[in-house]
Amino acid sequence: MELLDDLSGFQFEDLMEDVFRKLGYENVRQAVKTADEGRDIIMEEVVDGRRRAIIVECKHTDSVGRPVVQKLHSAIATFDFDGPKRGMVVTTGRFTSPAREYADRLRNNGDPYSIELLDGTDLRDLSEDIGLDIYNGRIEVLCNETLRPVDPTAGRDGPVLEAFRSIENLDSRDLPTPWTSVTFEPVLSITARTDATFETSVGVIHQINQQDAFLLHADRQHPRVADGAVGTLVQENFSRTIDLDEPAMEEMFDEVDVNRFGQTETEYKEWAIDRLREHHTTTVEYTGDNNVTYTKECTPNLSDVSVQSIEPVYVPEVRSSTSLGEYSYPFTYYAAGPSRVTVEDGIHRCVHCDSAQDGTCTYCENCGSINCKKHIKTERLEQEPVCTGCAVTERFFLRTKYFYDEENRDEFREEYAAMPAYEKAMENPPLVGGSLVGAIAVVLLLAIQFGLL
Ligand SMILES: [Zn+2]
Ligand SMILES: [Zn+2]
Repeated sequence: MELLDDLSGFQFEDLMEDVFRKLGYENVRQAVKTADEGRDIIMEEVVDGRRRAIIVECKHTDSVGRPVVQKLHSAIATFDFDGPKRGMVVTTGRFTSPAREYADRLRNNGDPYSIELLDGTDLRDLSEDIGLDIYNGRIEVLCNETLRPVDPTAGRDGPVLEAFRSIENLDSRDLPTPWTSVTFEPVLSITARTDATFETSVGVIHQINQQDAFLLHADRQHPRVADGAVGTLVQENFSRTIDLDEPAMEEMFDEVDVNRFGQTETEYKEWAIDRLREHHTTTVEYTGDNNVTYTKECTPNLSDVSVQSIEPVYVPEVRSSTSLGEYSYPFTYYAAGPSRVTVEDGIHRCVHCDSAQDGTCTYCENCGSINCKKHIKTERLEQEPVCTGCAVTERFFLRTKYFYDEENRDEFREEYAAMPAYEKAMENPPLVGGSLVGAIAVVLLLAIQFGLL
């Protein structure tokens, strides 16, 4: 907890906001204060079905005296809330005896606005209870839960082998073991409510009452909202997590990286609120009393958006690379046990034109390439697939023929030389076919000319 001392007053409030949210208080938010005394935290608890507001005063000082507690007591009394209220003072330091006596007296006298005092020692215990880590003077989101990186029945390489299964001319038994790494990516599942009413002189022109749930890639520098498929994968498997056991993962994968949550929960929360405010911004057209049409951009206020939950989890991104001949094939996916979302499929992609293939992909055993229909040919001598990239070519009967190598070409040259003429012609069926049609046409024309038909 020593690092707490390096925090500014504001950072301390941010930290406490995270702590309270973790402890299960609801609608934890910072109240904007008028004077220069910093901000209070407002939060709620539900007691016997009734919401009770708690106003928290944060004091990042060595010692807190009776006036602070007394002032909070009057602030609670005037705080606008439809229900019971209580108070709390938290400090990194300690409370003076008069401060403690004052708080005790409120409680003993059955005052409607009791005040709880939490000092530095209490804070340390609380932080330990909820597993918050203090890192560089800030607390980051800590999480030890991950979705499963490995398909429980198909095994680590199951998904890659499955992807290779649809490649023509490739026996999956010939595949080498792929090099496979896993990166545990921090994500946050966020639910939030936006309730906003936009009014002008003519009345309410727009209203938002919406619940949003989305997934955030908690990248340290650039948090971003996850795309639909990844979001769904994580949401659907959120309750099926396992402990992130790094040594066990290192035995299973060739490389293991665990990315950390680089920001505090409050920072992610603020980021999410900004995105939601943007998301719910709309331009509304309305008619004024003077019958003139106006447009107004409606953006929810900060206080219109409340984040209800932020839950961290790791989602494993499994990257594999399989080497075949001169090529290596990347295959990357987000995993959740037997389910996954493919991020990169370098297996169903032609190495020659780099186009992704929905249709047939064929393996060239000669060089290890995977090819589209256009870039795969039949080896003339062995009648096996060969790609245009590695094949040795030569024209026979005006048609290009493909060979694994010069040796095969030379062997075919000899075969060709020994062929009777009609068989040579069969090396170019379209030409022969075309000539045949041509020949028949000539015969017909002649027959017509000579009055035979
Ligand atoms: Zn191609
Ligand atoms: Zn090839």
